[in-house]
Amino acid sequence: DEDLAVLEAGEADELPGGERPGLPVLAVVGRPNVGKSTLVNRILGRREAVVQDTPGVTRDRVSYPAEWAGRRFSLVDTGGWEVDVAGIDARVAEQAEVAVEMSDAVMFVVDATTGPTDTDERVVRMLRRSGKPVILVANKVDSPMQEADAATLWALGLGEPYPVSALHGRGSGDVLDAAMKVLPEVSAVAAPMPEGGPRRVALLGRPNVGKSSLLNSLAKAERVVVHETAGTTRDPVDEIVELGGKPWWFVDTAGIRRRVHQTSGADFYASLRTQAALEKAEVAVVLVDASVPLTEQDTRVIQQVIDSGRALVIAYNKWDLMDEDRRPFLEREIELDLVQIQWAPRINISAKTGWHTNRLVRALETALDSWDTRIPTGRLNAFLGELTAAHPHPVRGGKQPRILFATQASNRPPRFVIFATGFIEAGYRRFIENRLRENFGFEGSPIEISVRVRE
Ligand code: GDP
Ligand code: GDP
Repeated sequence: DEDLAVLEAGEADELPGGERPGLPVLAVVGRPNVGKSTLVNRILGRREAVVQDTPGVTRDRVSYPAEWAGRRFSLVDTGGWEVDVAGIDARVAEQAEVAVEMSDAVMFVVDATTGPTDTDERVVRMLRRSGKPVILVANKVDSPMQEADAATLWALGLGEPYPVSALHGRGSGDVLDAAMKVLPEVSAVAAPMPEGGPRRVALLGRPNVGKSSLLNSLAKAERVVVHETAGTTRDPVDEIVELGGKPWWFVDTAGIRRRVHQTSGADFYASLRTQAALEKAEVAVVLVDASVPLTEQDTRVIQQVIDSGRALVIAYNKWDLMDEDRRPFLEREIELDLVQIQWAPRINISAKTGWHTNRLVRALETALDSWDTRIPTGRLNAFLGELTAAHPHPVRGGKQPRILFATQASNRPPRFVIFATGFIEAGYRRFIENRLRENFGFEGSPIEISVRVRE
């Protein structure tokens, strides 16, 4: 089967679907080198520590799905994002503040072997102001003899210090138990999305792609609705703009309005902001600059959207600067770099002149319709039955898993569960995904397929 051969040759990348909205968020903060990354790895149960030795290497994620004692939560990892520069001390509290703002509870890590520093005190003041529950981790307590070191941290006034050795695992269970006690069941920061009201849109993209210009252009062309929408509480950072005769809720626009200065930790703030906006949004518009080649920062934002499971529209902005010579290169970039998201509608716009910005609404509606889609179980199984009869799973090691039954477990985004007699390989899942898309549309929405094996 040609189709399948092509798919299997491609990378066996994971299907979309990252953290679920509504999971409580636990942030790990503290000075550089106190052991945050080591602790995060310990909590995530990663075998190989990815403790960063190379300064300036940034991670591509800010949060990870985690689990303890049967409870699931998101773990925000601020380690590895720091860049060692002069004045880092002042920036530690600042960086931590963003993470704290976005979390339900905080693990504050202090190096018990050196004791609290001025920077630690500064973080403590910020933590107090935040009003968030704080678990004080006295790290690097590798042996019982060092527990006296931990006791000196009572002086920080954050309550009991938990002696931990992130490196060896000592005390990590107790500190996680303590964190679970203060972590709410339902997140206040990543609250489940309210039903009804205007559809929520996040305008995303790297600095200077034109987010603020687009927002201004949309708000000017139409009108900014200032009244509170009935039954909704919205943050002052959000704006409601009427487009195509309907109100649309643009989330987390404060970060767009405010000029974000380029600093060493800018990537970290940008990723956290993106994440915060995604958590509140149903659909994301990722702006890219059509006049220059796609950058790593662009693809990182797109990846964050895919991981979040939100609907996606790609807007090629600054089309007025498009040089005809660049056109063929752009086409190739779209084919190569955006192959993973060929399902996302693309619009070409100029935020500056307002050209084609009226096409945004159509693209948003298409993406959201796909995101909302529910396929009745009967139709789904009729489709899969025909598909698997014509293209059965390839035989592997003398075995051939059979698909028994499938159901759509949820929508927003559509999530499918397939029951099969054996492991379904990534290439075949991708094949099913492509055929589902061909048959049912899903333009603008990620879809997720998981497999349950039944003997
Ligand atoms: P981060 O900058 O806060 O993320 O700190 P890292 O996790 O990168 O750790 C900084 C250094 O401290 C590394 O060399 C770790 O191996 C070491 N370290 C982390 N936790 C412990 C611990 O519990 N005991 C000891 N002895 N060293 C640790
Ligand atoms: P943001 O950082 O993503 O909010 O980007 P801004 O909206 O502040 O835009 C950054 C710069 O790009 C400003 O100088 C804008 O005037 C310019 N810009 C934005 N959109 C366009 C466009 O469509 N065409 C052109 N030529 N310039 C644009």
